[in-house]
Amino acid sequence: MRFSKLLIPTLKEAPKDAVLPSHIFLVRGGFIHQVASGIYDFLPLGKRVLDKIRTIVKEELDSVGCQEVQLGFVTPAELWKKSGRYEKYGAELLRFSDRKGNEFVLGPTHEEMMVELAGRFVSSYKQLPINLYQINLKFRDEARPRFGLMRGREFIMKDGYSFHTDRDDMVREFELMEKTYRRIFTRMGLDFRVVEADSGAIGGEGSKEFMVLAESGEDTIVICQKCDYSANIEAAKRAEPENVPEAPEARLMKFYTPEVTTIEELESFFHVDPFYLVKSVAKRALYDGGRSEIVLFFLRGNEELQETKAANSIGANELLDVSEEELEAAGIVPGFMGPVEIKRDISTQESDDTPYVIQKAGMNAKMVFDESLKNASNMICGANVKDYHIVGVDLSVLKDLDFEDLVQVKKEDRCIKCGGKLDYTKGIEVGHIFQLGTRYSQPLGARFLDKDGKSKPFVMGTYGIGVSRLLAAVIEQHHDERGCIWPSGIAPFEVVVVIGNIKDENQVSAGEKIYEILKKRGVDVVIDDRPERFGFKMKDFELIGFTYAVVVGKKLSDGKVEIVKRADLGRIEADVDEAAQKVADMLL
Ligand code: ATP
Ligand code: MG
Repeated sequence: MRFSKLLIPTLKEAPKDAVLPSHIFLVRGGFIHQVASGIYDFLPLGKRVLDKIRTIVKEELDSVGCQEVQLGFVTPAELWKKSGRYEKYGAELLRFSDRKGNEFVLGPTHEEMMVELAGRFVSSYKQLPINLYQINLKFRDEARPRFGLMRGREFIMKDGYSFHTDRDDMVREFELMEKTYRRIFTRMGLDFRVVEADSGAIGGEGSKEFMVLAESGEDTIVICQKCDYSANIEAAKRAEPENVPEAPEARLMKFYTPEVTTIEELESFFHVDPFYLVKSVAKRALYDGGRSEIVLFFLRGNEELQETKAANSIGANELLDVSEEELEAAGIVPGFMGPVEIKRDISTQESDDTPYVIQKAGMNAKMVFDESLKNASNMICGANVKDYHIVGVDLSVLKDLDFEDLVQVKKEDRCIKCGGKLDYTKGIEVGHIFQLGTRYSQPLGARFLDKDGKSKPFVMGTYGIGVSRLLAAVIEQHHDERGCIWPSGIAPFEVVVVIGNIKDENQVSAGEKIYEILKKRGVDVVIDDRPERFGFKMKDFELIGFTYAVVVGKKLSDGKVEIVKRADLGRIEADVDEAAQKVADMLL
């Protein structure tokens, strides 16, 4: 290919809203062009990289028996209603109708459609297992599309779905997909981690995410400093603490705490470790069908609520903040919320010595307790009465409390696997594999006849890769202040032959010769034959990030050319006749 003929509109300036290197360099390098918020065109260079990524994904998947299909981007709303996701998916789902009033959605993911397809054509256990995938457009009306290809509204995903007779076989395929994904991302030159992930309110028995490690990542990953445990913060678990602070022993009673409402204020008022304070977090939970309720989540005072865990614990789609008015209307006292109330035993005469009895607080709200509060004693919590707290609370005497894992794992917490110290790092989610079970096959009636002649719903797995997001993820990991540094396997061209001065006939003919040899050898090569200044061409080479440049310039008079490696801008000289051979060898 000839640079002079290619549409490569490199730019000096970055788009105003671009903050991430990948966004800046993909636009400035002429790879992509924004047409609307979260919607991008791929220009020739972007399309070449995209196709190479696609090819790697396809080669690896096909080699383990997956079959590529292509489903409609516009999908009937009816299927979404059947699965119950038409409402659940919320505002990200773009809904519309055609001229006859038939309702459709733009596919944000294709479980419903793929299940429908398998249900129609796969009817016997003899046809199982089967793994179908596509590499296709998706549309999600994201609330905040940003960072270029990282979070688009229209984007390209590889989405695969596997169908099995039973759980064991699904788990086998899940493990095969994990291995295959590892190969895919390794071939792209990525430094990544496979992490335990949140399976969401849609259930499923287990899921893993593939995270490209990068400061700019939107996901927080918890990693163990000692073993290989890593998990998305939304799913991270930890071991119980080794040492607990000394307990503030006290008799169960109400305590006057005027204006003392925050954990910090309570800590200094009572001189206790926050481990012994009950933190109450109120949220409005939204469920399917528009139903909502106030939920109080209780944790130890030294912990933070993990909202995804909290929402999953009650099967809510979303948690919203609650106003003081809403709390008061539900019989909750803001600032002094707590799970219990105490009363004096009225069977004996009331005096200062009469012991209190404890019971669940009466209020119009659901209560969920973090697991670390199971059997917690010597606790201090809000009394649900203005300006009062209750001390000496022993939660183990209460029956029927709902205990769930609600906490955000902290740095320095202990690893659930080995007890080592945990730490945080940032990642970009480029893949997600999911053990789905019968979540979709059941409601959509996708069934097969098993060996024993019984009709059963398919047991499914689902597997996604953010194909267009990968362009951004690769650049987040492979760039310098000058531009992109593409790993050779996915570079738009592996080599650019730069002719220093196209008015110099010798340079032109030597450059053309090297270009022809490389082409013949199957190297992906472009020749920069533009009538531009040499410095300008080299700037474009650095910005675009071809893996190598062969520079045919002034040294040609000594029979020499230069080979420049984009990664470190290191230069070596080569004899003009050997240059093509040399650079081709360097690519191996
Ligand atoms: P995220 O948490 O980043 O929104 P997700 O959990 O919604 O991702 P999945 O539904 O698992 O994503 O989709 C599979 C893959 O598609 C993701 O791993 C990610 O790489 C990619 N992806 C998801 N949303 C977008 C988007 N808005 N733009 C580009 N790629 C996306
Ligand atoms: Mg998302």
